[in-house]
Amino acid sequence: MNRTSKLRPGLLEELLPGVHRLVAPNGGPMTGPGTNTYLLGQRRQVVLDPGPAINAHVDAIMQAAGDQLSHILVTHTHVDHSPAAAVLAKLSGARLIGLPPPAAPRQDQSFCPDENPHDGAVLEMDGVQLRAIFTPGHASNHVCFLDDDRRLLFTGDHVMQGSTVVIPSPDGDMAAYIASLQKVEALQVANIAPGHGNIIDDPQRALRRLIRHRLQREARVLARLAKAERATLEELLADVYDDVSKQLHPVAEFSLRAHLIKLVDEGRVAKEGRFWRVTEPDRQG
Ligand SMILES: [Zn+2]
Repeated sequence: MNRTSKLRPGLLEELLPGVHRLVAPNGGPMTGPGTNTYLLGQRRQVVLDPGPAINAHVDAIMQAAGDQLSHILVTHTHVDHSPAAAVLAKLSGARLIGLPPPAAPRQDQSFCPDENPHDGAVLEMDGVQLRAIFTPGHASNHVCFLDDDRRLLFTGDHVMQGSTVVIPSPDGDMAAYIASLQKVEALQVANIAPGHGNIIDDPQRALRRLIRHRLQREARVLARLAKAERATLEELLADVYDDVSKQLHPVAEFSLRAHLIKLVDEGRVAKEGRFWRVTEPDRQG
């Protein structure tokens, strides 16, 4: 498997027989090298995460799939993953599969699926078979797709390579995200094909690290609150994310809010006006 690719936009690369990747020209701080669009099947008839509706990208997908495009899968409906779906469906008549967009910011409301898979549904698409694995957390409608034969999991933004997953509340949910990471860990897949970055060939280690990272961050939030009795969001951000570049603090704030909402839901933290405090100091140890 080609793991050392530079992920150049517009370049169609074959990662495995029947698995091609095309990177969208939307690289940036939140998207890394750009969104990965996968074309699956011997005839590249299935597109997974068509990406943004940028003309050059839509043209490149149409060129790669030729007149064979039959199915378009979407892991979730953030604006860097699904807007090309409606455009491609109009051009090709392909069937759209995924969960409809929630009413939240940065959601692609143009995505209107023909088929909403249920959790565990096996999708048969002209010789390409994938299993839908619901993974809410980064987005409430997030779905991963598993190629059972190869033990290859397409993770969209649930797991990325080279950048950190943002949990934008209120649609994003930290407790659900951690549970979905554990759910994917239990699948024991051989490889992960993420929505951003290169193939991950040691997924168990990567997943354990991600889960540990989130739990450690949560422990730091609790420790900081236990020490000072109460703190504002700004104070927590400065202390708990002191290892993260200041430029990324607006992004980190999303995750901090998601941690705090999880802790409030669990009854471990309470909010009073501008301040957050722990409710049961004894439990923090
Ligand atoms: Zn996303």
